[in-house]
Amino acid sequence: MRISSDRSARLMERAVRRMPGGVNSPVRAFRAVGGDPLFMERGEGSRIFDVDGNGYVDYVMSYGPLVLGHAHPEVVAAIGHTARKGTTFGAPTKLEVELAELVCKAVPSLEVVRMTNSGTEATMSAIRVARGFTGREGILKFDGNYHGHGDALLVAAGSGVATLGLPDSPGVTKGAARDTAVLPYNDLGAARELFEERGEEIAAVIAEPVCGNMGCVPPLEGYLEGLRDVTREYGTVLIFDEVMTGFRLAYGGAQERYGVVPDMTCLGKIIGGGLPVGAFGGRAEIMEQVAPAGPVYQAGTLSGNPLAMDAGLATLRAAGEPGFYERLERLGERWRKGMREATSPGGLPVAINQVGSMVSLFFAEGPVVDFASAARADAEAFTDFFWHMLGRGIYLAPSPYEAGFISAVHSEEDLERTFEAAREWFEGRA
Ligand SMILES: *Cc1c(COP(=O)(O)O)cnc(C)c1O
Repeated sequence: MRISSDRSARLMERAVRRMPGGVNSPVRAFRAVGGDPLFMERGEGSRIFDVDGNGYVDYVMSYGPLVLGHAHPEVVAAIGHTARKGTTFGAPTKLEVELAELVCKAVPSLEVVRMTNSGTEATMSAIRVARGFTGREGILKFDGNYHGHGDALLVAAGSGVATLGLPDSPGVTKGAARDTAVLPYNDLGAARELFEERGEEIAAVIAEPVCGNMGCVPPLEGYLEGLRDVTREYGTVLIFDEVMTGFRLAYGGAQERYGVVPDMTCLGKIIGGGLPVGAFGGRAEIMEQVAPAGPVYQAGTLSGNPLAMDAGLATLRAAGEPGFYERLERLGERWRKGMREATSPGGLPVAINQVGSMVSLFFAEGPVVDFASAARADAEAFTDFFWHMLGRGIYLAPSPYEAGFISAVHSEEDLERTFEAAREWFEGRA
């Protein structure tokens, strides 16, 4: 089933002439599910509306930032109010200080933080700082973890790349890839072995503490603790990439939820409240390496942009209200139970992963604990399910490797509609 959106189709015709694949970020192009993407016109709370006026319950939420839903009144007001005073100065502003203070208070392992314009910049810069700090060059990442599209990290990088079936990106030099070791996620034994062999060469281990870029894949018990122990033993910087999980899985991110303290943390998405932002930070001793305090260069014309800072502040203040994360937990659990029930007719193998408001339905025999098990999912079944759900007004990410996001403004009724639509598909398959 294909959704009919004439205006989207016409825009796509124009877009492909002037933009690679018609989009500014690959997964938006719907390549994994066939057909053309819907062009969106506006969002309101848990809903988005395409250019033909069709409305959908949104589980993409711009791939994570919109924990308050679309066009939250306080975020919109902050942006408007701040924009009237000028949008950028190339000089420090009070808003930057306020957001830095708020983020460091929420995530105590961040003693010092630097703002960037994207998560990609945050992880690239964190790696550079870790290398500068340790005087080592090697890094270790995990298969299916995505840390943005920086050269050193664009190896076995999960959703976007996996969706397109590209093994590695052309244009990434052998040199850049050679310094990056890749191991399966959730395999502590493999990490320990690598460290025994050449731990003294490894500047940093970077990991998503809960993966969201091969679908939602939580860490097995003891895994994060094990990474913490081995990196401490070898003087390697442990970087948690919390661009997705920061302020989503708890106010203090996955590190609060699991009680494991990294040396450095990358943030993004939610901390910009829907505007372009990233951040990296960590122990003062490490962050003092960053220019102009130290010799490791890192900069940005628009870094700490007032609009983004104020949208972030408005978002984080709302997320700091009592009961906010309890509500997300309840909605996430409701989703898991509802989907478990909705997917039971027909006995197709499905695995449901959920951590707080990050959710995934894999068309595969569970458990899904790493990229290999996520990649076993039935892509054809997903595609059919995706178009069925879209036809029923449920907007899922157009890739079997993307997690779904529930916002604080998703309602019980939104979820019920979702279960009903899903049940209909599974019954049709029975
Ligand atoms: C989205 C994401 C990034 C990249 O952030 P951009 O703002 O898209 O550059 C990095 N790491 C993780 C874990 C992400 O989910």
